[in-house]
Amino acid sequence: MVKPIIIGNWKMNGLTQEADHIVSSLLAYAEKNKDLAPTVICPPFTQLYHIGKHLKNTPFELGAQDCHVAEKGAYTGNISAAMLNDIGVKYVILGHSERRSEYKESNALINQKATAAQNANILPVVCIGETKEERESGQYKEVLAEQLKGSLPEHFVGLVAYEPIWAIGTGVTATNEEIAEVILFIREKLVAQYGENGKKTLILYGGSVKPNNVKDIFATSELGGVLVGGVSLIPEDFLQLLTIA
Ligand code: PGA
Repeated sequence: MVKPIIIGNWKMNGLTQEADHIVSSLLAYAEKNKDLAPTVICPPFTQLYHIGKHLKNTPFELGAQDCHVAEKGAYTGNISAAMLNDIGVKYVILGHSERRSEYKESNALINQKATAAQNANILPVVCIGETKEERESGQYKEVLAEQLKGSLPEHFVGLVAYEPIWAIGTGVTATNEEIAEVILFIREKLVAQYGENGKKTLILYGGSVKPNNVKDIFATSELGGVLVGGVSLIPEDFLQLLTIA
């Protein structure tokens, strides 16, 4: 059986001491457990180069949390996908709800960023998800369909993460039925848009994934993995997810 991919999003956390502690715990675990689930660590930009060096020739892959649409140039304060590729980044999280809300990132912008990532040989992990109000009013499928259609490039080579906003960092996880319904919905949309490739695209769930609920989440049909926030900063808990996968 193919193991689900586990992507840890550190968000804006991880000073050097903490980062080193997490990474050394992961590497010690990997020494003893050879049959690991594919695992991606997404630290903040400041730690990417440093952590990337430690992860070289290990089962862990390096991911970033955003990139710019342009390859280079006069974009003060930004980081391009080419720069990420240059230091060994293989994945980039795009369109996370925290960026969609704080920076008003539109589907069109996320689409351009995903294209930039693909052009730099980085797999975009495109996040979509509805608000609590959209879920409660029953509009969530329309919202998700629009996000998918707008955020994914015409030729998409990447992953999709379903992260209901009401479940992110709240401790409230979507129920198994809620997750299963949306994962199947996303699969249908991907197949309709991309045919055979749409069947292969990994679809992840994210939002308060923890050691005590991950087993049920992994059992969801068509689910390709999980995107983990808070728990990815707690090595003991994060390693439990790897054990269960
Ligand atoms: P959480 O975050 O696991 O802390 O809920 C998930 C995410 O934002 O990707």
